[in-house]
Amino acid sequence: MRLRTLAFTVASFALGLSVGALRREPSAPLMPSDIQGSDRRRVIILGGGWGGVYTALTLERELRSGEGVEVVLISRDNFFLFTPMLPEAVGSAVALTHIVNPIRRMLKRSRFVAGEVRHIDLHDKIVEVELASGSIHRFTFDHLVLALGGETNFFGMADVAQHALTVKSLADAIAVRNHIINVLEQADVEPAEQRRNLTTFVLAGGGLNGVEVMGSINDFVRAASRAYPHVPAAEIRTVLLEAASRLMPEVEDSLAEFTRRELQTRGVEVWLRSRVAGATDSEVLLEDGRRIATSTFIWSAGVRPSRLLSELPLDRDRSGRIIVDATMRVPGQEHVWALGDCAHIPDRRQGRDAAYPTTAQHALREAYRLGRNIAAVLRDEPAKPFDYPLRIQLAIVGHRRGVASLLGLNISGFLPWWLWRTYYLARLPQADRRLRVALDWTLDLIFPRDIVELPVVPRRDRRPSSTFQSNEPDRPL
Ligand SMILES: Cc1cc2nc3c(=O)[nH]c(=O)nc-3n(C[C@H](O)[C@H](O)[C@H](O)COP(=O)(O)OP(=O)(O)OC[C@H]3O[C@@H](n4cnc5c(N)ncnc54)[C@H](O)[C@@H]3O)c2cc1C
Repeated sequence: MRLRTLAFTVASFALGLSVGALRREPSAPLMPSDIQGSDRRRVIILGGGWGGVYTALTLERELRSGEGVEVVLISRDNFFLFTPMLPEAVGSAVALTHIVNPIRRMLKRSRFVAGEVRHIDLHDKIVEVELASGSIHRFTFDHLVLALGGETNFFGMADVAQHALTVKSLADAIAVRNHIINVLEQADVEPAEQRRNLTTFVLAGGGLNGVEVMGSINDFVRAASRAYPHVPAAEIRTVLLEAASRLMPEVEDSLAEFTRRELQTRGVEVWLRSRVAGATDSEVLLEDGRRIATSTFIWSAGVRPSRLLSELPLDRDRSGRIIVDATMRVPGQEHVWALGDCAHIPDRRQGRDAAYPTTAQHALREAYRLGRNIAAVLRDEPAKPFDYPLRIQLAIVGHRRGVASLLGLNISGFLPWWLWRTYYLARLPQADRRLRVALDWTLDLIFPRDIVELPVVPRRDRRPSSTFQSNEPDRPL
């Protein structure tokens, strides 16, 4: 089995590299890097995730240097996080640094600014950005792209927000992985009665992301526990809580049912119709009064758009996403566009009020369309509607097991897992990262998973906010 998997991994890698190589990369410079005193039209993109980075890359490809347009991408972190592999990074199947790419290396002709967007003034067309030092800089724009994604929604449960871990960012992945290793270290020493909390791992949220994270954590703790001789394997409990009567609303019933059975076969307790009502540092409380004693509670049950966007005088849907038209333009705001997890983009195929789902797969396609639309509008040409029929849906539920919906056909087992790896390896930006991940996967077949608890060094303390206030919008740096 190992040899066959090794052969598949090598084949995936070769395919991933060649598909990656076939993708078009941006070429000649779009503009000089100095933007001071610029009379070029400026497109500002907020958010360095799937929506933001790929909109910038598409604009680089679409616009020629003589067209007098400058593109500025502003984001909190200086890297692009390849979220589909985040669950694998939590489970030590790939190294954390192999699933991130420096945005500066991805962008060839756009300007990148690493900072926290603090305020957006749609009327005066100004964005305020705070750098790590605390200094505030202001940027004017001609076109603004909102690609700020989402943040975890605890639905007002302050105790859950306080006690639960989340898996949304690279920092989250480091924290969860460290926490798991740390509780195993404690469990190796503590007596049996204290061990029960430490060896119980609970995750709330049976959507696609939650299932992938739980599948990965389950594999990891069971494999890692072999290094802890005083932690009996039989004591390890992994529990997946889902409020609805089935897992993964994103896929067909039959696939969801296969996933449930598969998780259970791998040792995960799947609790359906189990809504979380609260949490303490040692327990998860359910609405029906049940309690689970645990030191590890992970919340993956809700996402809402970035809070910053709620300040804007724009129409939003019930989940807080900004409503845009089919071209991704904000109605009534000629120069404002939104995409990805923070946008409600109408999906006419699914019905009148339906919107495209919030997945990386969609954000990527939306970015391709939006980049072309903004380039068209800058040339006084019409923007076109976004139209993307979803043909492939893939998810992994643990090592060598996956589920997929391919062109209307539902499959499960080893093939979807292999397809998932091949597809996402091909999508991972930059050849060196593809090589590193393929090596991680190959080595994972031979060696035990890494259980080093990483020391976390905080960023240098920020100075008090607003230590520098530039009032010259066109002199941002
Ligand atoms: C664990 C996990 C697994 C997933 N697996 C899959 C999968 O297998 N397949 C799939 O299709 N999708 C998957 N997704 C969903 C996918 O990641 C999202 O749909 C996608 O990231 C949305 O892209 P986006 O650009 O809208 O937002 P994001 O990718 O979240 O990007 C938003 C960016 O904005 C930045 N930002 C936010 N606020 C500010 C601010 N105030 N100032 C500066 N910067 C800011 C953030 O730092 C981030 O860089 C997964 C998500 C998670 C969390």
